[in-house]
Amino acid sequence: MRPISDYHMHTPLCGHATGEPAEYARHAVKMGLSEIGFSDHAPLVAYFDPKVSMRLDQLPLYYRMIEKAQTEFKPQLTIKVGIEADFIPGYENKTKEILADYPYDYVIGSVHFIDDWGFDNPEERKKWEKENIDKVYRKYYELLRRSAQSGLFDIMAHVDLVKKFGHRSTESMAEEVKKTAKVFKECGVAVEINTSGLRKPVKEMYPEKSLLQIYQQAGVPLAFGSDAHDPLDVGKDFDKAYALAREVGYGEYVLFKKRKIERKIKI
Ligand code: ZN
Ligand code: FE
Ligand code: FE
Ligand code: ZN
Repeated sequence: MRPISDYHMHTPLCGHATGEPAEYARHAVKMGLSEIGFSDHAPLVAYFDPKVSMRLDQLPLYYRMIEKAQTEFKPQLTIKVGIEADFIPGYENKTKEILADYPYDYVIGSVHFIDDWGFDNPEERKKWEKENIDKVYRKYYELLRRSAQSGLFDIMAHVDLVKKFGHRSTESMAEEVKKTAKVFKECGVAVEINTSGLRKPVKEMYPEKSLLQIYQQAGVPLAFGSDAHDPLDVGKDFDKAYALAREVGYGEYVLFKKRKIERKIKI
């Protein structure tokens, strides 16, 4: 068994993904999915890097590209319009303005930066050697909570991304994660199972099982995403993601439309 929807995939506009939306859609159909959503990296608010996100003036092109694919694949495949936006403290209003530009079906929130350090960027990996890993983990969870509290996002992405290169905290983060799950629940934010971790040095699902269990127990809604930056990664390892959701006790996952939960699907 596998989920019917994949809500996390990119387009070449972000500068580090390949393949046109139609190619992602075609692969989705091949994988047996009936719904996908694009969630490319929104223009970075604090600075601009053409290898990290699209430019502000490319947003209209982004919508056009997806709308073209929507027309082409109707009614075989439902294609939602989402976006993945970074949480950068101090830039909430600017982020809000960008997100108000289009009636998105959902907005995925991501923490890829701690202060101005892109901690998951391979080019900034060296900085890990100078950091106290436990402190980095605590700061990361604090930022996840503030992301949810900002009200900017509907789904939080890859909620243990700090482990990407295999850096492990020495102290248990269970209390941090419990606090985070509680905040997600209170703020009405969903969590995703993101299969891209399996393709990264850590070779684990985001989040790993014991953490996902905490979100399940807190009653946080669930969504599925492959974080594909290549059409062939759409729906990748979704059988494993589904099994994981089931193992921790999730009985359903959610679909979004116009930034509201549209439908719940039984697991
Ligand atoms: Zn990316
Ligand atoms: Fe991300
Ligand atoms: Fe992504
Ligand atoms: Zn992502």
